[in-house]
Amino acid sequence: MLIPCFACEARFTPDEYFAACHDYHRGRDLVAWTCPRCGNRDELRVLPGELGFGYPSRGRFTVEDRFRVPGLRRRRAELRLDISLDKRVWRVPSRTAQPARCGA
Ligand SMILES: [Zn+2]
Repeated sequence: MLIPCFACEARFTPDEYFAACHDYHRGRDLVAWTCPRCGNRDELRVLPGELGFGYPSRGRFTVEDRFRVPGLRRRRAELRLDISLDKRVWRVPSRTAQPARCGA
C-alpha cells in the first residue's frame, strides 16, 4: 500500500512515509511529517489502523480526514512515539523542549 502526500500527491511506501515523521508532540499527540518530495510539512495523528489529518482549531487538533493503514499500531513512550506496521517499528522522538519563540 502507498500513502500519499496531500500537497504534491506523491505516494510513499510505509517505510518511506514513516521515516519522514519527526517531532512527536506528546501534549497534542501529533507527529510532524515533511514530504521527502515537495518539502511540505504536515501534522498528523497516528491512530490504530489509520492516520488522522486535520486542522488546529481553538488550540485543539480536529481530525477531519482519515487514511486507512490496516495493521498500523502505535505506542506512546515517555519521549517518543513508536509506530509499528508488519513487524517494522519507527520511533519518532519528541521535539526537544524549546523556549517560546519571539515573533520575529
Ligand atoms: Zn509532497
